[in-house]
Formats: sequence, C-alpha cells, structure tokens
Amino acid sequence: MKIICYGAIEMEEPYIQNWANRNKVEVKLVRDELCANNAGLAKGFDGVSSEGTTPVEASVYKKFKQYGIKQLAVRQVGVDNQDLDAAKENGIMITNVAAYSPRAIAELGVTGAMYLLRKIGVYQNRMEHGDFTYDEKTISTEIFNCTVGLIGAGHIGGASAQIYSALGAKVLTYDPFYDASLEPYTTYTDLDTILAEADIISLHTPLLPSTENTINKDTISKMKKKPILINVARGGLVDTQALIAGLKSGQISGAALDTLADETDFYGKKNLPNTLPQDYEELKAMPQVLITPHIAFFTKLAIKNSMEIALNDAKTIISGGKVRSVVNL
Ligand code: NAD
Repeated sequence: MKIICYGAIEMEEPYIQNWANRNKVEVKLVRDELCANNAGLAKGFDGVSSEGTTPVEASVYKKFKQYGIKQLAVRQVGVDNQDLDAAKENGIMITNVAAYSPRAIAELGVTGAMYLLRKIGVYQNRMEHGDFTYDEKTISTEIFNCTVGLIGAGHIGGASAQIYSALGAKVLTYDPFYDASLEPYTTYTDLDTILAEADIISLHTPLLPSTENTINKDTISKMKKKPILINVARGGLVDTQALIAGLKSGQISGAALDTLADETDFYGKKNLPNTLPQDYEELKAMPQVLITPHIAFFTKLAIKNSMEIALNDAKTIISGGKVRSVVNL
C-alpha cells in the first residue's frame, strides 16, 4: 500500500515514518499543501492525506478519481478549504480528525485570555518606552471573577469550559446542540445573553455560512461588558473591520487571534515585516491584540494524534473498511 501525504511538516516526519514502518505502508511526504498544481503527484498511490488551508479545487478530486483513489484523509479538524460536494461527485471520501488534542487548542485560548486580562501587551508596550507606570486603565480582573462566554462547545469549546471552570470562572455556553457531559462546567444559554454578560468571549464553532462573521457590527454592539475576544477557531468567524472598530472604540477591550480570515497567502510563511494586509498590520500594532500564527494545534501530542488517526482511517478505507470520520457522506 502506498499513501502520499501533502502539507507534511518536518515535525511530522518521525511520527509518520514510525507509523509507516509499523503498518508496512509506503508513505511519500510532500511539503507543499495539496492544490491543482501538485495533485498529479498522487498518480500511482493508493491513498492521499493532506493538511493545510489552501483551497482545493474540484479538478483535484477529478484527478484522484482518474488515478483510482477513493479517499482523502485530512490530518486536521477544519475541512472548509475542501469542496466536499465536488469530492463526493468524484467518489472521494474525505475524512477529518475531529479531535486530536482539543486541550491543545483550548489551552492557547486560555493563554490569550490570561495575557489580555493582565494587560501584558499594554505593559510591554509601555516598558519598551521605559514607562514602568500602572494606572486605572490597566487594572486587571482575576479570572475567577470573570464570566466566560463560549460560542460553540464541541471538542474544543468543551475542553475550554473545563479549563475555565477549573480556574473558577463562571462559564456560559451557546451551542444549538446540548452536551450533558458539560453540565458540571457550564450553563447553556442564548447568544444575546453571552454577548451581554461575558467578560471573555471565546469562539469555537466551525466556519460555515451560518457562522461566518458571527462577530460583526451588530453583535459587537450587544456586548455590554467591553469583553476580551478569543478566536482560536477560524478567522472568518470575525468581521475584521468591525473588530478593529470595536477595539478602537473600546467596546472590545482586547483580542487574541490565532486565526485570521484570508490567511492563506501568509500562513506558515516567513513574510517580510509590514507586508500583511493593511487590516492585520493595524491589528498587530495594537497592544491590546495578541496574534499568533495559527499554532493552537501545535503540540507534540496533537501532531502525533492527527497523523496517526488520519493515516489509520486512510488505510482502513483503502482496505475496504468503514470509518466514522467521513465528512462528505
Ligand atoms: P466541533 O465540531 O467539535 O464543535 C463545534 C461546535 O460548534 C459544535 O458543538 C456545534 O454544535 C457548534 N456550533 C455549530 N454552529 C453553531 C452556531 N451557529 N452557534 C453556536 N454553536 C455552533 O469542533 P471543534 O473540534 O471543537 O473545533 C472548533 C473550531 O476550532 C473549528 O472552527 C476548527 O476549525 C477550529 N480549530 C482550530 C485550530 C487551531 O489550530 N487554531 C485547531 C483545530 C480546530
């Protein structure tokens, strides 16, 4: 059996080689993310795995079909860069890894919340100018005195609820699907209540037409507590211009963003200083904003699990078996 892995990062290599040896599968690694230009490399392989955010065009699945390939195992949660219908039309089963380490992502969200709560960016900015003062503008709140509002409580939102609850915060959740196992950690409510009552608003929904720009001019206007916004989910959940306006007016007191809308052009690349799109440069320059380069998933356990689960699914499907992780049935 031969599998080609696109978007393979150096750190994955030892785990993939180890899996390949154990499973007696030949695995070829390709550094570039899967796209129309390199789909041809899959010719002669039995299966495909990919990771990344580059949009995958319908022509890619058509090629896979011609090569007799039946699956594409995505080594991450998000599949919003895939054309699920086009894949289905070409008989390609797309699988994802729904939970490789929800704690990894949840912990970065909490890290951002603590950083912003204690105004670290603002103090660092002052100290760079030799200013060691503090005043009423930079006074903090303890986390156990905060109300945290989670929008979306699946794997990662659920893990976030557990951590915030363990820290003593009051946790509110808005999610149309109720999960009884989260009862000890959170209280389910509606979106407007979260907007009105939360000191920290944390986004954990997938990017769907129904969730795009969840944080917009209207929802920001309903935020009563001048909250901190945490986005470790998908950039498209936030209307960037509305966020900038909210931060400038003080309606939002800070933002920790691990994902940015339209990040494909600069994600994972070494960009020259001041070459990000104007709105991101503007956000980056704000001391009450923390931007990380989409690394919430980047822990040793997450890398190992995402690779291992995806390749196990690929192997099972290639061998004629069934898996539960197909996202385009
Ligand atoms: P999940 O599918 O387990 O949970 C998503 C939850 O959102 C579900 O419970 C669903 O009911 C809920 N939801 C859907 N629409 C909603 C709406 N309109 N309002 C409120 N809730 C809604 O997903 P997950 O694994 O927890 O992932 C959450 C997000 O994190 C996804 O956007 C994913 O792409 C992103 N993610 C980011 C990173 C990173 O490195 N930054 C890593 C992994 C996942």
